Amino acid sequence: MSANQGNENGGQDNSTQGASTKQLHKEYRERIISTYRPLHRELYQMTPGSFFVPSFLNAISENTEEGFRNIISEPSPGVLTFDMLQPQFCKMLVDEAENFENWVRETRTRILRPNTMNAYGSVLDDFGMERMLDKLMKDYILPMSTIFFPEVGGATLDYHHGYVVEYGTNRDDHLDFHVDDSEVTLNVCLGELFTGGEMFFRGVRCDKHLDSESESGEIYNYSQVPGRAVLHCGYHRHGALSTTSGHRANMLLWCRSSVFRDMRKYERNASSWCHVCQKEKEEKQRRFAVQRTSSQTDSSSPCFSQTDSCSP
Ligand SMILES: [Zn+2]
Repeated sequence: MSANQGNENGGQDNSTQGASTKQLHKEYRERIISTYRPLHRELYQMTPGSFFVPSFLNAISENTEEGFRNIISEPSPGVLTFDMLQPQFCKMLVDEAENFENWVRETRTRILRPNTMNAYGSVLDDFGMERMLDKLMKDYILPMSTIFFPEVGGATLDYHHGYVVEYGTNRDDHLDFHVDDSEVTLNVCLGELFTGGEMFFRGVRCDKHLDSESESGEIYNYSQVPGRAVLHCGYHRHGALSTTSGHRANMLLWCRSSVFRDMRKYERNASSWCHVCQKEKEEKQRRFAVQRTSSQTDSSSPCFSQTDSCSP
């Protein structure tokens, strides 16, 4: 199984995007926002008390590793799951995304889909939720990613790509095996009634090792639960199995760090966060240590003495 690099359509990569592309994207957003009429205006402003469940809010205000560990379960290394969104918020967000889709159909507006892998789904940032999602990233995800994903820029997240995707009849069926265009991904199932749609995880890899084998400890399938979040490093290879019946919607927030992306351009050594790079590094160190031990042993033998008395 080979993994794709899932990319954002119309790319918002701050570091590589040209000024004219940025301007076009800005104008595209402004055009939508000036004519689209939101269904639930209360979604567009961060209201923690009605968005999040109390256990999540308590952990955020405590802001300690222990506090987060109390609400998080880590069924596989680097896959963190926790209850996050209230059912009412999930329902309103699904309705809002559907309202936007209806508007797109009725007005025959051409829109950018969230990424190169989903034919359906809508970018929340494009119809007015950019500011709310930026707050979500900085005030609610950053405290956790600083503790749990510092090796991939989790402490310096500074821009995002937020969207809703829907699976089921007349929508996308599954999601191919891939890595995200993010340093840290928040993925929350919004419901509704469905069967199937399990996420599968297969270990964290750099670009060079994207298609390498998974180890048994890296293979993990997760059954999605409405309102419950999954937080993982963007380079954690994953996908989603077919949604076999019903309708499933998820909210995704691809969180990015421009500092980490700049640093990666100049990275010469193995990635500290890629499991294969780490194994290769350990193997190299082991071989080096063996070589050193054997050369030390050799140099103490008479054959390597300065008088070279062993020469024939
Ligand atoms: Zn690697």
